[in-house]
Amino acid sequence: MEAESGTILIVDDNPENLQVLFHTLRQGHYRVIVAEDAHSALERLQRQAPDLLLLDILMPDMDGFELYRRIRANPTTAGLPVIFLSALADRESVLRGLSQNAVDYITKPFHPEEVLMRVAKHLELTRLQRELKTRNQALEREVGERRRVEIQLAEALERMERLAQQDGLTGLANRRYLDEYLQQEWGRARREKASLAVILADVDHFKRYNDRLGHLAGDDALRAVAHALHGVLRRPADLAARYGGEEFALVLPHTDLEGALVVARMIREAMAALALPHPDSDWGHLSLSVGVAARLPHNDDPAALLRAADAALYRAKASGRNRVDGAPLS
Ligand code: GH3
Ligand code: MG
Ligand code: MG
Repeated sequence: MEAESGTILIVDDNPENLQVLFHTLRQGHYRVIVAEDAHSALERLQRQAPDLLLLDILMPDMDGFELYRRIRANPTTAGLPVIFLSALADRESVLRGLSQNAVDYITKPFHPEEVLMRVAKHLELTRLQRELKTRNQALEREVGERRRVEIQLAEALERMERLAQQDGLTGLANRRYLDEYLQQEWGRARREKASLAVILADVDHFKRYNDRLGHLAGDDALRAVAHALHGVLRRPADLAARYGGEEFALVLPHTDLEGALVVARMIREAMAALALPHPDSDWGHLSLSVGVAARLPHNDDPAALLRAADAALYRAKASGRNRVDGAPLS
């Protein structure tokens, strides 16, 4: 004998009907529970939820429609599939039964074969619906988990990218990022026909500083200078970078030479305020030589601008250090 393939509750006040239905369904290897009236059906349902209900409509005390209303009003039984099985074959009753969400309506006298086939079909449908729901829930969990992992990955990538753009000692942008940024802003300045400025600043007599105070003190001094430079920037698009060794670079979009010279002066003021003692310098404290260049981009690359700033820096060094040099460019 096959395994039982579902539990079915039959509610019918006619014992003969109950018996026929019971045997029919047993032939289909279903487990069958019977109730002779609506009240005992409700009682059974409190104890056990069947997979399907077959409800007679015409019953004394409480009819099948009212029983079904109560079943649907109770959250624990509301989802149970119901088939009405009734001698009421008029269109109105059938429609009323079906419009209340019953899965089917079979009129009496019924044909046992047909009842079996319909019961099997609805049980299969219910099983498939349940399976679909379970799979959907699993899928939703999976999607949620995947989204979490994606967010974590994106955050890790962002952290890595930031690290790859940063100078380890000072926390300013590194040379690689400076080059990238300068290229990008050069292109933007060309499209917008705007002036772009570059400032190069090199610590004066820094070899002596290291020699006198040690390399670690030198590192601290570079961090302090970086902090002072960063503090001078005013606009979000301004960038301060470590150009290499004890040399720094600032990129100032939408800035002409005059504006860049103002920033250079602020750099010198910031260094004066910092007043880091330099035991082997003419001025007694750490100072910078600063080269400034600015111009509208032509159809060339930003290397020309960097070269011009470097030449200005060289002139500042050559003419005595601790000063700013910046000449207009064509
Ligand atoms: P000038 O005024 O002509 O620029 O003289 P200078 O001594 O500053 O220039 P020079 O190029 O002769 O020496 C640069 C020094 O900067 C030597 C090098 O050891 C030091 N330096 C470069 N990078 C670092 C760093 O990361 N930490 C420390 N402590 N020193 C550095
Ligand atoms: Mg130097
Ligand atoms: Mg140098």
